[in-house]
Amino acid sequence: MRTDILPILICISCKNSLEQKDGGAVCVGCGKKFVINSDGAIILQAAAPEEFSGTIGDPLVYKLKTIFKKYEGLYFILVRIAGALFVGEETGKTAFMHLPNESIIINLGSGPKIISERVINVDCFPFKGVSVVNDAAMIPFKDGSVDAVICECLLEHVTEPNAVVAEIERILKKGGLVYISIPFMDAYHSAPDDYYRWTTSGLRHMLRGFKEHKLRIGWGPTSTFVSATAHWLGMILSFGNKTLYQLGMLFFSVILSPLKLLDYGLKHYKFATNASVGYYFIGEKK
Ligand SMILES: [Zn+2]
Repeated sequence: MRTDILPILICISCKNSLEQKDGGAVCVGCGKKFVINSDGAIILQAAAPEEFSGTIGDPLVYKLKTIFKKYEGLYFILVRIAGALFVGEETGKTAFMHLPNESIIINLGSGPKIISERVINVDCFPFKGVSVVNDAAMIPFKDGSVDAVICECLLEHVTEPNAVVAEIERILKKGGLVYISIPFMDAYHSAPDDYYRWTTSGLRHMLRGFKEHKLRIGWGPTSTFVSATAHWLGMILSFGNKTLYQLGMLFFSVILSPLKLLDYGLKHYKFATNASVGYYFIGEKK
């Protein structure tokens, strides 16, 4: 595992420090042992989350994801074409690259995406490249121990987003930075489930513990139009069949995809925020 992060991790039972021992990690307070898996990830979770059964949500999309994840390049190309087009100026990757090398940057809900070797991936699933496997509601880092948190398209997928935001606030140093991207007018997308959406006002309220540097459009109004139209056509032409619905929706998402390029211009229009797929927020802990 990454030895640089052990000193800032905490026990999920008693919140004491951990030390490396016998190929795993042990809590100095309660003695609880934590496994370090063959990929070098430390497992700091009470119980592994249930594997997504594929019986709810969008099973075809999930199946495609599973198939394409074996061919990562192809998967990302498909997602890029069918999904909303990101037109923001900064991503989690670019937002914090100016920070000094010794800065602790974590990517919360990273999935298998590796932004940079210096970014610590944290996720509730042990994907390759993940260093810390945790439960969404508890981020097992010490108070004020992290310089920056990246949290891309995660909060709509957790049941208690306010609790996650409180945890981000807790682990950040004073003046520590956050990059959060989040949906407003996006269609249902399971990963493995989908719970919430935010207006700009709702987002500002939830993130009121942070001084706002930027709140910008990440995915614009044409992505909203394309997504709604593809879902609408998929639904109309499905005759109630889930597979037809998913296929139709994917087909029209791809066909209408070039329209989304308009958002590079439309994101500057007044009122564009009122119908955009989503936003990104950059701020610092007060
Ligand atoms: Zn403990």
